[in-house]
Amino acid sequence: MTTGTIFDIKRFAVHDGPGVRTTVFFKGCPLHCLWCHNPEGIAAGLDLLVRSSRCARCYSCIPACPRKAISKGPKRGPVVVDRAKCDLCGKCAEACMYEALVMAGRKVTVADVVAEVERDRIFYEQSGGGVTLSGGEPLAQPSFCRELLTELKARGFHTALDTSGLASWETLASCAEKSDLILYDLKLIDDRKHRETTGVSNAPILANLKKLAGRKKAVAVRIPLMAGVNDGPSDVRAAIEFLKPFPSVKTVGLLRYHKGGQEKYRNLGQAPCFKIYDPPSDERVGEIRQAFADAGFHVRIGG
Ligand code: SF4
Ligand code: SF4
Repeated sequence: MTTGTIFDIKRFAVHDGPGVRTTVFFKGCPLHCLWCHNPEGIAAGLDLLVRSSRCARCYSCIPACPRKAISKGPKRGPVVVDRAKCDLCGKCAEACMYEALVMAGRKVTVADVVAEVERDRIFYEQSGGGVTLSGGEPLAQPSFCRELLTELKARGFHTALDTSGLASWETLASCAEKSDLILYDLKLIDDRKHRETTGVSNAPILANLKKLAGRKKAVAVRIPLMAGVNDGPSDVRAAIEFLKPFPSVKTVGLLRYHKGGQEKYRNLGQAPCFKIYDPPSDERVGEIRQAFADAGFHVRIGG
């Protein structure tokens, strides 16, 4: 059976599609958005999170490490991990009772995920909810994503695919076919700014969105809003002009940027590769909401 790598399964999610949902977070993403607040989802493989503030200085992780990569911090402080020696075996995380050392990512089968989401079937049925695949980027693991969606559909779950849209058309189309709803991220129409802030061109993303929207598939576009990046009048106008021709795009979700996630970069041992932005003001969000509503979209704040 195909296995995939995920970094979280969140139960009782209410912003990732209709009703009460379980959201499965896939590892690996081809974009590097400067505002990303889930950096543990970017690398395709496992990561070791070192949460120094939780370290109780019991030092049981030191003998657990077969590569002698862990040492006491200065003045018997929180442990320090030499990442050059670490091979991500996960033994320290097993030894740490305080969750100061945690592996981000685990290999799972389709059956593993299905067993977890089945626990909340009654909540999906009562609320009109279901299961959302998110990440990272679910389409970066095409076989696993497709097989999981197929199994979920076969069991009667409502399925949603939360995607950046950066994948081959074949991958997107085959996964979209098994999804009841596509949550499609749209960051910027301006390609220069898109490259500067995400590291990639938006050309394939926009081309895929056009094709997808032409298929009468339910698509809800989601726009993360950062002040000074994509909340200006010309950016909003460009997004509306791009989306207006597609009758299957009825809903636009405005996701206000928040400053969470900074500590995660430190926990991953990465020099911050993100930038700290400001969220747009309430007033500006209201204006953007109104602009999309005037263009005929159903607008949601927060997803
Ligand atoms: S086992 Fe956990 S709490 Fe104990 S020293 Fe290691 S990281 Fe800190
Ligand atoms: S993941 Fe393995 S190699 Fe890395 S620090 Fe922990 S025990 Fe050592």
